[in-house]
Amino acid sequence: MPWHIGCWESISGARSAGRLPHALLVTGPAGVGKRLLVEATVRSLLCSQPDERGLACDHCRECELLAAGTHPDSVKVGPDPDGKSDEIRVDAIRRLSEADTLTAHRGGYKVIVLDPAQNMNQNAANSLLKTLEEPCPGTFLCLVCERPDRLPATIRSRCQQLRIPVPPEPQALEWLRKHTDSPDTAVLLRLAHGAPLKALALMDEDRLPQRARLFLGFVEVARGLRDPITEAAAWNEHEPAVVLDWMGGWVSDLLRLASGHRAPYLINQDKVRDLHTLAEAVDPEAGHRYLLRILEARANQHSPVNRLLAYESLLVHWAGIGQRHNPCLRQRD
Ligand SMILES: [Zn+2]
Repeated sequence: MPWHIGCWESISGARSAGRLPHALLVTGPAGVGKRLLVEATVRSLLCSQPDERGLACDHCRECELLAAGTHPDSVKVGPDPDGKSDEIRVDAIRRLSEADTLTAHRGGYKVIVLDPAQNMNQNAANSLLKTLEEPCPGTFLCLVCERPDRLPATIRSRCQQLRIPVPPEPQALEWLRKHTDSPDTAVLLRLAHGAPLKALALMDEDRLPQRARLFLGFVEVARGLRDPITEAAAWNEHEPAVVLDWMGGWVSDLLRLASGHRAPYLINQDKVRDLHTLAEAVDPEAGHRYLLRILEARANQHSPVNRLLAYESLLVHWAGIGQRHNPCLRQRD
């Protein structure tokens, strides 16, 4: 990825200077290609004859073993695929500290990838801390993490951090246009908060028509043309992670428009006309409070609160905000 070049150079530069850290924490938002960079790093470290840029040759014995998934010095740690939860549990981390696991079998690096690192439970994190405190020479531990704030500070401080940035918009659009002929790349990229791989995934998942339906419902609830409870039932089939992200974008965009800035940065560039109408109808203070409510619901989306209840509550509240200041209703008064 063109926006990985700086990160790649810092890893390969550290390696050639003999300063490769014992533990690297790779962070960045979803969709910037953290795993692609980590995979390239693993291939490079295990390859017996990487090129001058540090890239794996892809045809030596080490590369072949890795491609076949049988390289004994490549270890992946994650949630138990057969487990009920997505936690990384302590036994998975304990296995790492066994001497056999930490020693390279084929004379090169031992490379351990822990992904997603924020899914470690408390005991697993405590156990990992011991491994980090007693680094084993030749072992490279890579933690992949979208939410480093959810990792204990003691773990963060023992890793070198590498943050993969969101690329500048022109670079991301150029890359996207090489990978898709969709006319909606600019809209998708904003919806993906600038992350190009996420934008591609949104396109593959056919998210734009879903978003259009939900947005129409959102606008019509504010205008009093739809019942919020009925609308919530129609939304219930959609994942809160996606819906709450969209709602947050709509409300923050209309608040940006209401603030009177000329040509503000908008996430939903294709919905400007409707957002303008909403911005005129919604009291900014109530809008800000509502945005906080959406953010709160988004932060709690993993708690076992009934999804339908959450949508009902948000849409009923929204109907109150939209209709109270609705200019159409005022005209009828
Ligand atoms: Zn190779």
